[in-house]
Amino acid sequence: MSSNETLLEPNERVLSTLNPDGSRRWLKPKPSPGTFRAARRIVAYLLIVVFSALPWITINGKPAMLLDVVHREFTFFGKTFLPTDTLLLALLLIILFIVIFLVTALFGRVWCGWACPQTVYLEFLYRPIEFLLEGTPGKRKPRKFVGLRKVLRIVIYLVISLHLSQTFISYFVGAHNLADWIWGSPADHPAAFIFVAVTTGLMMFDFTYFREQVCCVVCPYARMQSALLDEDSLIVTYDKNRGEPRGKKRKQTGDVQLPVLGDCIDCTMCVQTCPTGIDIRDGLQLECIGCAQCIDACNTVMDKIGRAPNLIKYSSERVIKGGKAHLIRPRIIIYPLILLVVLGAFVYMLSTKAPADVLLIRGQGNPFTTVVERQEVSNSVTVRVTNRTNAPVTYLLEIVSPEGARIDGFTPMEVDSNANEKRNFRIIAPFAEFDDGEVQAVVRLFDESGSFEIEKPFKLLGPMSMPKPQGDQP
Ligand code: SF4
Ligand code: SF4
Repeated sequence: MSSNETLLEPNERVLSTLNPDGSRRWLKPKPSPGTFRAARRIVAYLLIVVFSALPWITINGKPAMLLDVVHREFTFFGKTFLPTDTLLLALLLIILFIVIFLVTALFGRVWCGWACPQTVYLEFLYRPIEFLLEGTPGKRKPRKFVGLRKVLRIVIYLVISLHLSQTFISYFVGAHNLADWIWGSPADHPAAFIFVAVTTGLMMFDFTYFREQVCCVVCPYARMQSALLDEDSLIVTYDKNRGEPRGKKRKQTGDVQLPVLGDCIDCTMCVQTCPTGIDIRDGLQLECIGCAQCIDACNTVMDKIGRAPNLIKYSSERVIKGGKAHLIRPRIIIYPLILLVVLGAFVYMLSTKAPADVLLIRGQGNPFTTVVERQEVSNSVTVRVTNRTNAPVTYLLEIVSPEGARIDGFTPMEVDSNANEKRNFRIIAPFAEFDDGEVQAVVRLFDESGSFEIEKPFKLLGPMSMPKPQGDQP
């Protein structure tokens, strides 16, 4: 666009972090101490401890959480799910979504303001470091050593981002593995090294530059709000009835009649503290992450001017419009009901899951060979066993039917915990048992201790007829 072309300015605000000319509106939210801030700080530090410690905790000898994408194994609180557990994993995902729907319908964006890693780390780690070294908005530190303090901030950010990305990757490769790799050469584990370097770079970009843009323009959860919230969901709201008409109180002079004002003195403290740069007095907005900083800011103002607190508060749209709160409503009944059904199915499937998955596969090449002298048919078979227990197990195999059949070439299989092994063998059966070129065989697989056994059917293939052995011919 040439410099003399005029920009078309939007009729209304498009985004809280966008100036009318399209440039970024940089936000410098003021900290607002208060009850909610103190509570959020406790929650945030607890979550940081949990996030950092979880990959190191073991339950039943397994990590509390390990998302081993390479081997397609997912461990949650000591229970490992394998690629064959597609249905269980799908149920787990459905449970997660229903919980998100239910929590959002009840408590609005409580996740965003109180527990999302973006908010937790930005508001309670990165930003406090910036305030400590460079001062808070409106109260910047003296200019002495300003450059040095900036560099120090970046160095500290880098160390935290590196730690964060290492913690993040430990959820995928295991904390103990990662600890070993850290002391080795990057050339031994180039993929992990590149992953940590890229993640550290992304975190630096996010927490030093991008910040609130994640919540305002990137996060898909914000976009789902209109569908997930209803008029009774708990949200941060401004009490218009009480606050309006807003304005600064003026002293009565002469006979001029001053307008009757509401409790909002239009000090804009709620706007100045908002980490996404919105004015909650304009109503519920996409960018509001429900962090309650505006509540703390306004309560401090109300306290100073001697008015009742909670001009801005956690409430629902219905209540703020003068209606009655409805806790019981269709979605609050339907979501838990669906959750109960899915959870029940999940628990049932989990508790009835066999300690081993067994699969019999036909061998490659010729489906069968015949031994004319003994009037027998040999089928090549592969057995694949997945051990789902927490210890290595040795498995044995025997044939149940047909009469006179035997197994050849199978040796006991030792399978590690949550690993799978394959073994080729042959089932040799008398031709007399075959009918129309096939017969149903049953194979029993069991473990050495006798605590597990399973019978599997397998169709043996054979010829429609078999020549008699040479000596038997007339
Ligand atoms: S902080 Fe409270 S009084 Fe000040 S502008 Fe916001 S709502 Fe009004
Ligand atoms: S409007 Fe209030 S609750 Fe919403 S993001 Fe801003 S400060 Fe947080």
